[in-house]
Parts: sequence; structure tokens; C-alpha cells
Amino acid sequence: MKKKLIAGNWKMNGSLAANASLLQSVLDGSAGMTCQAGVCVPAAYLAQAQALLHGQSLIALGAQDISSHEAGAYTGEISASMLQDFAVRYVIVGHSERRQFHAESDSLVAHKAQRALSAGITPIVCVGESLAEREAGQTEAVVKRQLAAVIHTNGHCISEIVLAYEPVWAIGTGRTATPEQAQAVHAVLRAQLNAATAHAARISILYGGSMNAGNAAQLLAQPDIDGGLIGGAALKAADFLAIMAAGSNAV
Ligand code: PEP
Repeated sequence: MKKKLIAGNWKMNGSLAANASLLQSVLDGSAGMTCQAGVCVPAAYLAQAQALLHGQSLIALGAQDISSHEAGAYTGEISASMLQDFAVRYVIVGHSERRQFHAESDSLVAHKAQRALSAGITPIVCVGESLAEREAGQTEAVVKRQLAAVIHTNGHCISEIVLAYEPVWAIGTGRTATPEQAQAVHAVLRAQLNAATAHAARISILYGGSMNAGNAAQLLAQPDIDGGLIGGAALKAADFLAIMAAGSNAV
């Protein structure tokens, strides 16, 4: 049985002072927890977070984006080797906010995942449908199309990714998918991964979208939900710790 993975996505939030206080509280409160965990921090704070997380193994360091290019004239981009300099373990790719506000295509997301994998960094690949797509009955088709691009580009390496199902209508809205709704999509994604690789069992499929201290245990109890990608609730130590505790207690 895989350990649940609880990953925080801080998005574009934080300050040197706030990060230090948040991470110290999370570290102090997480002693003895048995889930896997990570925090995906803004690039500007990778060095600070690396230093604060030094010397412990429970909470891994993550980034929020990676360039699909190796190096060169790509102003503002962050390369895989730069992330390696900070010993980054995870990087989010294809978050809906990047697909929506930065016009990231399925193909670009797939190549970002490839760049991360070739640097030994685990991409947390996000897929998810908009409200309009759900209401049009397109949920399955949308998430399968998004995942198919990543499978096509990455071949057998697909078994090294983490996948996150994040319905766009549930992100930052306080409107969570019910455990049944989330499980139904996770089962579809699990079947697609099973068809793509004999090693699909090792892939964690996280749920993301207004997961919080109150709903985490029920979501994490679903058979195909292997963890959570947490936005807003990752910014409050007590909430993030409660979700980590739910992940540690889930079977
Ligand atoms: C996210 O940004 O990945 C996310 C799930 O956000 P929230 O938990 O705030 O909905």
C-alpha cells in the first residue's frame, strides 16, 4: 500500500517572514506523521525553503513550474537544472491556472513533464475539467485527453509521474468534488494509466480542489485517491497539518 502524498501548492503567496513561520509550524507539528508530504513554493523562495527543510525527510521541496527548454534565451523561465540546484523533488506542471492564464497546451505540459523526469524531478501533472465541460458531460474526455498527451510524450517513464485530478470548478472556490465524484474520475485515470504501463500501481493520483481539514479524511478514504494537492489550506499550518494527519491515518 502506497503512503498518501500530501502536497501543498503555495501559489503566488508568501514572504520571507511568513514562510519561515509557516514552515516552522508545519515541521514542529508533523513529528511522527507517516504520510509523504511536500510543499511547492514560489521560485523566489526555493533557497529559503531548502534551508528551512534541511535535515529532515518528511517534507520534500517542490516548485510550481519548469521550463520545457534546457537553457538559453527564455526570459523569466526556470530550468530543470536550476531546480536541481535546490534539490527540488517535485514540480507541478499543467496547473489549471497555468493552462488558463498562460495558455499552456496539453503538448507543452507533456514536454514540461518530460524535462522534469529527465532531471530526476517528479512532475505532479495536473488535469481537470472546467465547470462548462463537466456540465456538458465532457469530464472523462477532457481528463483523458490531457493525460494521453503526457503518456504519448513520456512513454514508459510515465510510471514516474504523480498525477493530480483537479476539477477547475473546485479550485479555490470552496466547492469540493464529492468523494464519489472524485473517485469516479480517479478510477478513469487509473484505468488509463494501467493501460499505458505495467508499473501504473506505483503512480499516485492526488485529488486537488478545496481539500481542507474537514473533508480530507473522506476524500482520502476513496480507493483511487492516493493523496491531495492542497492550495489555500496549505497556507495555514493547522489546516495543512490536519490534512497530513488525515493522510497519515488513511488506509
Ligand atoms: C490548487 O491550487 O492546486 C488547489 C487545489 O487549490 P485549493 O486547494 O485552494 O482549491
